[in-house]
Amino acid sequence: MDETLNIRQLVRENIRDLVPYSSARDEYSGSASVFLDANENPHNIPLNRYPDPRQIEVKKMIARIKGQQVENLFLGNGSDEGIDLLFRVLCEPGIDNVITVDPTYGMYGVCAGINNVEQRSVLLRTDFTLDADAVLKAVDDRTKMIFLCSPNNPTSNSLDREVVMRIIREVNCMVVVDEAYIDFSREEGTGFPSSTKSTGFPRLTKSMLSHVPEKKNLVVLQTLSKAWGLAGIRLGMVFAHEELIGYLSNVKYPYNINSLTMESALKSLADQSLRENWVNQILVERRKLNERLKSFAFVKRIFPSDANFLLVKMEDPSDVYEFLMNRGIIVRDRSSVPLCEGCLRITVGTEAENLQLCDALDTYNQTKDNV
Ligand SMILES: *Cc1c(COP(=O)(O)O)cnc(C)c1O
Repeated sequence: MDETLNIRQLVRENIRDLVPYSSARDEYSGSASVFLDANENPHNIPLNRYPDPRQIEVKKMIARIKGQQVENLFLGNGSDEGIDLLFRVLCEPGIDNVITVDPTYGMYGVCAGINNVEQRSVLLRTDFTLDADAVLKAVDDRTKMIFLCSPNNPTSNSLDREVVMRIIREVNCMVVVDEAYIDFSREEGTGFPSSTKSTGFPRLTKSMLSHVPEKKNLVVLQTLSKAWGLAGIRLGMVFAHEELIGYLSNVKYPYNINSLTMESALKSLADQSLRENWVNQILVERRKLNERLKSFAFVKRIFPSDANFLLVKMEDPSDVYEFLMNRGIIVRDRSSVPLCEGCLRITVGTEAENLQLCDALDTYNQTKDNV
């Protein structure tokens, strides 16, 4: 459908011809040395200056690392800004709808609610696989977006890429694939690239990013909040067709990414080996934690994880949650979420943190044995 997809027609009418705010720095982009155009304070260099509203330097660096064009990249104050702007650009309040495949990341539904957009919830199958027919059945001509999270939070599995591609091919709306955890996902049986050979992990699962240039209705979300260890700086990425990126850029706050964020992003992005080491350590710890948790009698099931957390089914999740909390260890209780009954979501921490967790669970196990 992508060749015929008209992005302009998908966009809300009031956004199509919106004239965006034009900042002082938008109107001048040469290399002057005296800046008296933006009512900035001349003191307190360099934070006295407004940041680059187009974020060219950071975008170039990210585009290069990701093998994408700058024109296909939007930067937001976390992925959350990207998600919210997609709603505001595409969805007419009270009229349009979006589809989420649940259980999944809560922000899609929250943003739908804030923007008064109907959220149609389709469930994953009980084995957490994606039911394309169920998704396609929920689509109508007011559907603007389908959110697919892969690897999915909180179920921790990746969605089948062929099934995702089928949905992209068969619909006339945007398909938003949230790849927040993509760096923790590994493809089995595909060989080992030299950089991760020593850890014995298969290579990265293929991102949907490579399809962005050819699929007009594909939007890929990534973030610096997880594998890059930069949740505190708030930097999220939206990769999409340049026309859609243009609309997002017109709607955003002019200076949505601040100077300190851009500075630390540039610094961190320059050294990829640090992130690779962290990811490898987390994958090693994920495997160890999985083994250790399996040995506890009260643990009923650990779902296979492609992310930096484990979804663990237990006999009495709220009891375990409280026990851990009293020892200063906080995990996420997902037991009230459909298909996650009985489950806690446990983030993989450092070796020491995971040991502390397992020691606490060991103690819990013994107190349960004795009653
Ligand atoms: C953590 C997470 C994000 C990251 O959001 P940021 O706003 O970039 O920190 C995005 N999507 C999912 C599914 C997540 O779990």
